[in-house]
Amino acid sequence: MTVKTRFAPSPTGYMHVGGIRTALFAWLVARQNNGRFILRIEDTDKNRQVEGSIEHIIQSLKVLGLSYDAGPDKPGPEGPFKQSERLNIYHEWAKKLISSGRAYADPYSKEELDAFRKQDNANHHPFLYRNHRPEITPNWEYQVLPLRFKAEPKAYSWHDVIMGDLSAGEEAIDDFILIKSDGYPTYNFAHIIDDYEMQISHIIRGQEFIASTPNYLNLYEALGFVPPILATPPPVLGPSGNKKLSKRDGAKDILEYINEGYLVPALLNFIASLGWNDGTTKELFSVDELIQSFSLERVGKSGARFDERRLLWMNGAHIRNLTPDDLDAMAKPFWPPEAKDYDPAYLHKVLLLVQERLKYFGEIPELTRFFFSDLELNPELISANSKLSALNKAQLKGLLEQAQASLEQSDFSLADLSFRLNSLLETTAQPAGILFSLIRIATTQAPASPPLAESLELIGKERSLARLKQQIDAL
Ligand code: GLU
Repeated sequence: MTVKTRFAPSPTGYMHVGGIRTALFAWLVARQNNGRFILRIEDTDKNRQVEGSIEHIIQSLKVLGLSYDAGPDKPGPEGPFKQSERLNIYHEWAKKLISSGRAYADPYSKEELDAFRKQDNANHHPFLYRNHRPEITPNWEYQVLPLRFKAEPKAYSWHDVIMGDLSAGEEAIDDFILIKSDGYPTYNFAHIIDDYEMQISHIIRGQEFIASTPNYLNLYEALGFVPPILATPPPVLGPSGNKKLSKRDGAKDILEYINEGYLVPALLNFIASLGWNDGTTKELFSVDELIQSFSLERVGKSGARFDERRLLWMNGAHIRNLTPDDLDAMAKPFWPPEAKDYDPAYLHKVLLLVQERLKYFGEIPELTRFFFSDLELNPELISANSKLSALNKAQLKGLLEQAQASLEQSDFSLADLSFRLNSLLETTAQPAGILFSLIRIATTQAPASPPLAESLELIGKERSLARLKQQIDAL
């Protein structure tokens, strides 16, 4: 079997994490089988369309490197790739269904349908359109629309690679709409025709379609199609784990993550891990490793929780694995304006110092400002530190003066700075938690920094001493 998967988004808004995950899973399955991955735009619901979303989908896939072999902007034998450009194909298949007696024109007005629904509810049985099927002969020539499928009610059992064996009784089967009154197909009809025409081997899509799957199976039979392999990942849940992830949970548009300096491989690693693991405790995967290890069979059945802290951790881990050259290149757009006068070698050293703590590149200005700018004193830093605020000003000042006296003698080599700082712990009889915190605050005006000696080496003698003096004067 040739593996061919597709990502089939409706252009109804931004690309959310759940959508990207669907695309990623389909892409991974295609790539690991040397198959084809298709982008198909399902734009048959004109009312729900959002301007610009096709471009946004395409851009998101490109940025993430989820390259498709054919799509709206990449010709291929399966095209066209927008459903709105395939209307004649759906109409041809609709005519075949009419000829075989499996589709008919729906003659009812909305009021009539409402009356049927009321009547069924009053009789305590569910409203099914097929119980009210009219005795009319459809005639495509007159374009009587909407066109409905004439279902053959029966029970179904089917296998879903992720959800396992599923089944539904014949009450799940109804005469659903194939072609709407505007001449556009429904998703229910169009995707079945497209997946067949495009020879898709696997349908990977969200849970919202499981309830309709018996209807789809009924239609496949009527058309004489063999259904593709079905794989339905569970929903991505919000951080609380009890409802679907929404924009309100802080989940951003994928392009925002990129703009904030998240790494593509880390984002893909994180998104793949929403519901999938390789059966070991391994958590960090490169893109190639994902292609090697991913399997639909190992996607869990229950919802996967979106935890942004985990994303931060994972992104940090990927940053720590970057080569020095890649690190420089990725960091480039994120330097604060005040860094522009510094030479690349200095920036590189700064970067190596913060690499350990960096969770995304957008943090660079905040984490590195003190390597570049003149600093304004922030008195809050001492008062917010419980250990330092326990000392009085004279004590704090005394400690800083001892540091100043020693550092004035230093050549500011790393070895000498380390030696002097350690000696100061002894001569002042203070723990690092007090002495080093105090020197750190004085020289960086930040509550945290990379290791102190390394930071001072880069800040340099002149600036370090000036900053110590500034803090001493203020005390
Ligand atoms: N157009 C559907 C959606 O965006 C996709 C369903 C599918 O992949 O078949 O929800």
